[in-house]
Amino acid sequence: MNPTLETLILPAGEAAASAAARILAAGGLVAFPTETVYGLGADAANPAAIARLYQAKGRPAFNPLIAHVTDLSAARQIARFDTAAEKLAATFWPGPLTLVLPKAESCIVADLATAGLDTVAVRVPAHPVARDILRAFGGPVVAPSANLSGHVSPTTAAHVESDLAGLIDLIVDGGPVEVGVESTIVGCFEQPMLLRPGGVPREDIERVLGRALAQPPQEVEGNSAQPLAPGMLASHYAPRTRVRLNADSVAPGEALLAFGLHRLHGEADAVAMMNLSANGDLAEAAANLFGYLRALDARGANAIAVMPIPNEGLGEAINDRLRRAAVERA
Ligand code: AMP
Ligand code: MG
Repeated sequence: MNPTLETLILPAGEAAASAAARILAAGGLVAFPTETVYGLGADAANPAAIARLYQAKGRPAFNPLIAHVTDLSAARQIARFDTAAEKLAATFWPGPLTLVLPKAESCIVADLATAGLDTVAVRVPAHPVARDILRAFGGPVVAPSANLSGHVSPTTAAHVESDLAGLIDLIVDGGPVEVGVESTIVGCFEQPMLLRPGGVPREDIERVLGRALAQPPQEVEGNSAQPLAPGMLASHYAPRTRVRLNADSVAPGEALLAFGLHRLHGEADAVAMMNLSANGDLAEAAANLFGYLRALDARGANAIAVMPIPNEGLGEAINDRLRRAAVERA
């Protein structure tokens, strides 16, 4: 993406927290310190804001993001806590521990933020600047590291500026962060599972739980950064309906996931049709992707035909997810 925005840099404080809250509420992007690294924050409930976040980072894939909240009661609004999760939250929050939990009924976190999964990653950060911003904003904020994809995680506002100036709205400078290591991620399923080592040591977690953490099975495709676990936790969202990519016509019995204004042969007879973006806007398409896939999946079509999506900018991440959705399953 071309740097075109005026990126404001404010020293941490009350004025910065209220500017951050205002920008987040308007769908903007705000970098701020957490106790792990500088995070790039967006309103977790706003899919367009999350699409912009992916665009700014230049990430070629939609990984699920961590929702940051002020406290346990805010976390309970978005996720369901079992006994193990309650114990871990009571002991380690606020702090560098992320819990992956089943979504609550009242979960407002956007499908794009959870990459379409039925689980949500949630954390209560300890850094006072992050906490002030979350309190001022009043809702969950997704905040992956505030760097360009492939670059090292930023531990100062200057790192963030060198990667993201012109691409984001605000950097809140709270000085260097101390840990510089990502949060530990634990999935609370039938068996609590260590999904990623990080700031809270495994031994401390196991002591609180009174049992060993299970090890996630490694994903076959060999992407070790992407955890896979049985039952609740799928590595990525997959519709039940077969997905057919690069469709140039619609066959009888198929639903259509369209993109752009081009009309396809057979379109009028489609079981259902949704257009990711009639204008051909890739950010709009990203924001709609998981919701529309789910909606079409529910229509009982014999396949979902997907029109070609240009493989540039956010299109790369969209195509990555569509290819995964199209893999034939037993
Ligand atoms: P971070 O890079 O610190 O922002 O953490 C994001 C990582 O959290 C993702 O790459 C996943 O590994 C993990 N994660 C987030 N949400 C989920 C989820 N619902 N299920 C499994 N892992 C998740
Ligand atoms: Mg990162």
